[in-house]
Amino acid sequence: MKTPPSIFWFRRDLRLSDHPALLDAVERGRGRVVGLFILDDEFLAPAGATRVNYLRASLEALATQLNGALVLRRGDPAVVLAEVVRETRATDVVVTGDYGPRGRARDERVARALARAGATLTVVDSPYVVAPGVVRTKTGSPCRVFGAFRRGWQEQSFTAPYDAPREATFERVASLDFTVFDDLPAPLAPPYFGELSALAPAPIGPAGEVAGLERLRAFTATVGAYDQTRNLPGVDGTSRLSPFLRFGALHPRTVLRATSGLNAGHATFTSEICWREFYADVLFHQPDSTWRVLQPSLASLKIDRDARAVERFQAWALGRTGYPLVDAGMRQLLNDGWMHNRVRMVAASFLVKHLHLDWRWGAKWFMWRLIDGDLASNQHGWQWTAGTGTDAAPFHRVFNPTLQAERFDPDGTYVRRYVSELADVAAPQCLQPGGGTGLLRPADYPAPLIDANHERQEALARFAQARADAAVAS
Ligand SMILES: Cc1cc2nc3c(=O)[nH]c(=O)nc-3n(C[C@H](O)[C@H](O)[C@H](O)COP(=O)(O)OP(=O)(O)OC[C@H]3O[C@@H](n4cnc5c(N)ncnc54)[C@H](O)[C@@H]3O)c2cc1C
Repeated sequence: MKTPPSIFWFRRDLRLSDHPALLDAVERGRGRVVGLFILDDEFLAPAGATRVNYLRASLEALATQLNGALVLRRGDPAVVLAEVVRETRATDVVVTGDYGPRGRARDERVARALARAGATLTVVDSPYVVAPGVVRTKTGSPCRVFGAFRRGWQEQSFTAPYDAPREATFERVASLDFTVFDDLPAPLAPPYFGELSALAPAPIGPAGEVAGLERLRAFTATVGAYDQTRNLPGVDGTSRLSPFLRFGALHPRTVLRATSGLNAGHATFTSEICWREFYADVLFHQPDSTWRVLQPSLASLKIDRDARAVERFQAWALGRTGYPLVDAGMRQLLNDGWMHNRVRMVAASFLVKHLHLDWRWGAKWFMWRLIDGDLASNQHGWQWTAGTGTDAAPFHRVFNPTLQAERFDPDGTYVRRYVSELADVAAPQCLQPGGGTGLLRPADYPAPLIDANHERQEALARFAQARADAAVAS
């Protein structure tokens, strides 16, 4: 009798090259592999339609690479995998490790279900250059601060990228069936989203490994200047690789190999990739950090949650705060499903420190709209900005949205691109609250929702109170 194939269960690794887990599956199946993706409603719940559309496009790209030999199913992975094992007589299921809290729990459950069905789940590699949990301090504890993590991370031996499998046959178990994407349940929107949850998804950009490699090749020509351009949202100065990394169309090993070099641009870029790995490591060690404030002294910070807070949240999400850089960023998120990192920081800081809202509200909205929405990077990016994270910007440092605009978008290129009401207003006026004052102010652009100086003082007062409360409690 013919040896059964192995099953390769694709998750956040939708590519063929630099893929040691896939190579392992090819070896176990003696060249014959069933490539499987399972659409799991539970995992789609926090994602708005934009990211789901991007997932679909990434799977279409993968299916093209496999000449259509991709099995798509929908349901509980433990049940689906047991079925596919029965259908194919496979005894080996191989995956790339998932280090998120839900993914880990799911994989334990799946391993037990597979054991009952007479098969084994083998975990190979991770979506990171160094798997979460590996880097430790000198005393063996998890790293709490980025500097210590980066030192430990750089001391690891980095593996070179792997070639794509040669001589592998992907089994055509059933015809390719994208109807699994039909009738998905509506994602769970929190009440403060209100009508926002019905907004149309953003159009998606190129997806899949071939497009990712193309983008990577283009970026290698400019990475040397990355340290100069990465903070300028009006310039195409960052890699825009985050969606490809999110869905594993590229592995960061491939990205680091292609962007390595000796100048400050290369070093800064490597450091940013390391932030991604740091946040995955923090999440691995502290799975509840997705929603729990990591700074105990800020746990009691006064946050607004009343009807006016909801109105302010919605104005922020729609890019209608009257602060041009914040609004440009929020409209970029609405229009493109992506936002520049500098503006993510400014917009997040504005929500927490000027509007006095819960960072978790903002984090949920980002996860809803971002194509690259990633639990570890998003939640900890928010905790960093809110001052509540493990290695966060201090709470009392408040980004001034106007000064940030003047510094990082001095000619208003970015603001004018996304805020149509300001398209014809010259800098520096287009960078000012309300787009300027008096007769110069464009009538159709919102007046400032709040007074940033006043609300900054309010934030600092709330911070002082939270610290005083924490001191009494300890
Ligand atoms: C509030 C907030 C929320 C964020 N949410 C996400 C998210 O959901 N998904 C996500 O991938 N990134 C998130 N980031 C990090 C960062 O903004 C994006 O990774 C970056 O903007 C993606 O654009 P790029 O690929 O051009 O980045 P580049 O500047 O070219 O960087 C290269 C890669 O390094 C990684 N990286 C860069 N900066 C960071 C960072 N600060 N933290 C973690 N990884 C980083 C990303 O994988 C990125 O693709 C968030 C940052 C903040 C402040």
